[in-house]
Amino acid sequence: MADLSSFGRTNGLLLTRDNLCKHQHLNDTSCLLCCEPKSVNHLFFSCDIIKLMWHDISIMLNIPAVLCYEDIAKMWVNNTKLAVANMVTSVFMWMVWKFRNDVHFGRILWSGLQVLWHRLFRLLVRWKLLCPKNLVPLLENFLTLLDCKVREAPQIRVC
Ligand SMILES: [Zn+2]
Repeated sequence: MADLSSFGRTNGLLLTRDNLCKHQHLNDTSCLLCCEPKSVNHLFFSCDIIKLMWHDISIMLNIPAVLCYEDIAKMWVNNTKLAVANMVTSVFMWMVWKFRNDVHFGRILWSGLQVLWHRLFRLLVRWKLLCPKNLVPLLENFLTLLDCKVREAPQIRVC
């Protein structure tokens, strides 16, 4: 799993649109999901779309609200008890980063929240092999809630 303690030290190195702007003269630093000015913190935490998802994930995991990477790092101290939450938050951030890259490089179009929930579901099913056996039922419970979220989210169809 990702080393979250290094995240704060390296967030100036992630190729988000604000960092690309500094180094490669990219003029448009707006978020690809909401059009607000973008930074690493915006991408993973303060984007309205991502905040909405963190809110729902926190409820589904029964954990305190996730507002910044320190909130995630705090849970790693108690990884034995919070292994599923740590897995879900890591997979979520990985999914956001991969999704952002797919939109940024034109591989897909941003078409709605349902796509993000579905991507999170698919990645977690793949990561299930890494879950400690005694916690698999807890992860499966989260996947059931996530499957409901995938199905309830509005769908935007491209003709
Ligand atoms: Zn945004």
